[in-house]
Amino acid sequence: MEIPIKKKRRKRRKYYNWVEEIAKGNTNKFYHSTDWDILKEAVLKRDKYECQFFAGKWNDGKHFPNKIKPVTATMVHHIKPIKERPDLALNINNCISLSFEAHEIIEERHRWAWRKKKKSLTKERW
Ligand SMILES: [Zn+2]
Repeated sequence: MEIPIKKKRRKRRKYYNWVEEIAKGNTNKFYHSTDWDILKEAVLKRDKYECQFFAGKWNDGKHFPNKIKPVTATMVHHIKPIKERPDLALNINNCISLSFEAHEIIEERHRWAWRKKKKSLTKERW
C-alpha cells in the first residue's frame, strides 16, 4: 500500500560537519536539521511506518514488547546514541522506526508502563 507522504517545505539545506557539531554538544541543532529530517523520512519509509519494536523485528537486547502487535511508527530512534557515535548519526543502519510508546520503553522514560507492570516485577538486569 502506498502511504502518502506529506510534502514539507524544507529550508535550504545547509551543510554541517555533524560529527563536530554533535561533539560540541549541538544535538538539538542536529535534530532540527534538514539532514535529519530527510533521513527520518527514509527510515520510516524503509520500515513501512511500522513500529519495529512492537512488530518484534527489533529490540535493544534489554527491553522486549509484552505483546507483538502492529503499531504505527511515529519516530526514528538512533540505535547507537549519537553522543557515543556521532559518526553514525546519519547512518540509516543505525536508525529504527518506533512508536512513541516503544521509544519511551527503550529510553526508559515509561513511568506509566512500570506502573502497569507492577504485578510481574521481573526487572531484567543485563
Ligand atoms: Zn531514542
